[in-house]
Amino acid sequence: MAGKTAAAEGQALKAPAFAYAKPASLQEAFELLARPNAKVLAGGQSLIPSLNMRLSSPELLVDIGALKELLGISIQGNSIRIGALTTHAQLERSAEVKKCVPLLAQAVPHVAHAAIRNRGTLGGSLVLADPAAEYPACAVALESVFVIKNKTTERRVKAEQFFKGLFETDLKQDELLIAAEFPIAKPSDRSVFLELARRQGDYAIVGLAAHNRKIVFFGVDSVPFVINGFSEKEKAKNYLEKNLNPSSDLYHSSAAKRHLAGVLLERAWNRLST
Ligand code: FAD
Repeated sequence: MAGKTAAAEGQALKAPAFAYAKPASLQEAFELLARPNAKVLAGGQSLIPSLNMRLSSPELLVDIGALKELLGISIQGNSIRIGALTTHAQLERSAEVKKCVPLLAQAVPHVAHAAIRNRGTLGGSLVLADPAAEYPACAVALESVFVIKNKTTERRVKAEQFFKGLFETDLKQDELLIAAEFPIAKPSDRSVFLELARRQGDYAIVGLAAHNRKIVFFGVDSVPFVINGFSEKEKAKNYLEKNLNPSSDLYHSSAAKRHLAGVLLERAWNRLST
């Protein structure tokens, strides 16, 4: 029936028809991405459900799974570089991540469930920019830098400038996120990750990623919400109270979410101070 979706008609939800390509090199990937209505496929854990629900209908899926430039975790000077294709499970198991980026290591077990963590990638989560996702907030708190390439150039973007709005980033259609670089934590650094969710692994109701006194909330705004530069807890709490206006969802009012954010702020501040 005209105007009705597959869901409304009670049909099984299946993705619309699309072409599929798995480039063997970056150059080939960029050529494919230049085609009309092409979309990058990484772990597929968010993209494939969105196709099945007919929320998006690309004509070509460009599977980046064979691009070796997007793989690996390596120490480079004062930073650790994590390839965009690194899965949540690989992050979780990495001794380097645990040692060098403890905030990220604390966050990973909260990202989805084991089956999804086996395929979902760091890059996919950052590019998706879900407001309730853990990694964008961690990347902003840690002042991470993203390495982005197109056919001709490489550019580097600070995490805080990458997230532009609800599911919206600075990445252009012809670009790939190659890696994220995180500064290696110093012994004096303090990191705290806290999340309230209905069950561990669900998207957050409200969460917080803090590195030293840079505190970044997620699940409360279209982009990570930053509180920085306060030396007194009460002033930070007042700032939150006055400036945080979360959207309500099916289960939580805006006031309830603001209250929960205040509770997490209190807990994080106390831990950062010990
Ligand atoms: P894909 O689904 O393949 O791609 C996602 C988007 O990113 C697409 O638009 C794609 O074109 C683009 N993309 C991917 N990689 C690149 C790249 N390198 N360069 C350019 N564009 C790229 N996530 C959380 O953070 N927290 C959760 O609690 C959570 N819970 C989940 C629960 C369920 C039931 C499900 C199904 C998913 C959940 N997720 C959660 C999402 C999961 O973490 C995904 O793995 C992640 O968001 C996307 O990663 P992906 O590799 O699967 O990307």
